[in-house]
Amino acid sequence: MAIATINPTTGVTEQTFEPHDAAEIERRIALADAAYRALRLTSFTQRAEWMRAAADLIEQEVDDVARLLTLEMGKPLAQAKGETLKCAKNMRFYADNAEGFLAYEALENPAAVNASRAGARYEPLGVVLAVMPWNYPLWQVVRFAAPALMAGNTGLLKHASNVPQSALYLGSLFERAGFPDGSFATLLIGSAEVEAVLDDWRVKAVTLTGSEPAGRSVASIAGRNIKKAVLELGGSDPFIVMPSADLEKAVATAVTARTQNNGQSCIAAKRFIVHTEIYDAFTRLFTEQMAALVIGDPFDAATQVGPLATKSGRDDLAELVDDARMNGASILTGGTTPDGAGWFYPPTVIADLHDGMRLVLEEAFGPVATLYRADTREEAARIANQTTFGLSSALWTTDADDEQFFVDELDAGAVFINGMTVSYPELPFGGIKDSGYGRELAAAGIREFCNLKTVWKA
Ligand code: NDP
Repeated sequence: MAIATINPTTGVTEQTFEPHDAAEIERRIALADAAYRALRLTSFTQRAEWMRAAADLIEQEVDDVARLLTLEMGKPLAQAKGETLKCAKNMRFYADNAEGFLAYEALENPAAVNASRAGARYEPLGVVLAVMPWNYPLWQVVRFAAPALMAGNTGLLKHASNVPQSALYLGSLFERAGFPDGSFATLLIGSAEVEAVLDDWRVKAVTLTGSEPAGRSVASIAGRNIKKAVLELGGSDPFIVMPSADLEKAVATAVTARTQNNGQSCIAAKRFIVHTEIYDAFTRLFTEQMAALVIGDPFDAATQVGPLATKSGRDDLAELVDDARMNGASILTGGTTPDGAGWFYPPTVIADLHDGMRLVLEEAFGPVATLYRADTREEAARIANQTTFGLSSALWTTDADDEQFFVDELDAGAVFINGMTVSYPELPFGGIKDSGYGRELAAAGIREFCNLKTVWKA
């Protein structure tokens, strides 16, 4: 895949980039390693100062940066601004909290281990490779970079090939804010070059956000090298609506949860599992509101859903819908690829699914919602858990028993009750099953790439 900015709204290639050659890759790895040796000796206070300066920069540049995101991957401009500002918030969160999260943990009773003093300290690991996707070109990267740099690690970014300008922006941001040269650099490389970088002894760990095949490949390279990996892969999150729910709120949130970021979010609600008592009412309102969304140029303020980021992404999505249609599913709205320029796909609602249709088990990475009817909460939980994914989940109920039941039963990295899944710097984020392993954000996120060194003294 060429490293290029291809405007998904028009299909026009705006700019292509030469990949880095072996010598440039070597130079950047060496620089990242040298930067680690310098950074690990700096204080939290110093790193926090640089991190806050990076947050200031990204806020000052929000308009230009947001335009870049919209140009490269097609999300509505207001959402691109929101993503950019959220990055600044995450940077400040780790600037404020890293030292506390990584504080020395003294054993209260060292005599129990025959010591005069004992405990554990968090130390950085070194250079961490970040393989990142195009759907949140800034946020996915900063979610990793802010805690990594605050811990004293350095980062090498292999961004998705369709967001090179976002990658280059991020590759200079932290240095401009004061971090030592090479602390966070971009490698303009294709996915085939990832193996050699991860094999390099100076690269100590890897984090990947993206598809399951990419995760399997990178995790196996990391495993062969006995290097730590964090994987944040796909999801097919359930959105369960029980009879006691506030139906109007549930519907409005369901529409946003399915279509924000043009439907291309790992934590988007994708499967809507509705109790039979309210299934018909939910379906009618949800379909009406999905059909009423404004599709168009993501630079236009009125647009709610822009194009998909890539042509192949749209083709994959259309194939999933066609497979369901051919096997007897009901398409309640949308479901056909429009003519014309750009990789648009309409908000789509599909009902009457059954086993054997690809959409039942596979992730729909675009504005396609599937509806399931459940007679009991046990059936709702069974449908929710039937995919191989386990990223997040949403539950709508005001019944305390139902709430406890689903919190206990859902196989997912998170349960959001009477709301949609959102990532917050303050809360751990990640999945189970084929959605990956490890956690980002909160205290867990900064500790993932640390050596927890036990110290024992007689
Ligand atoms: P990919 O997983 O292919 O891309 C994500 C990143 O991984 C990119 O930087 C990509 O580089 C890289 N990559 C891909 N394959 C490998 C590999 N074998 N070894 C090393 N690095 C690799 O996502 P796609 O863009 O192809 O999207 C396809 C599907 O992935 C979506 O339909 C969705 O299911 C899932 N996805 C999930 C995301 C999430 O947030 N969890 C985000 C994006 C996609 P390059 O661009 O050069 O190929």
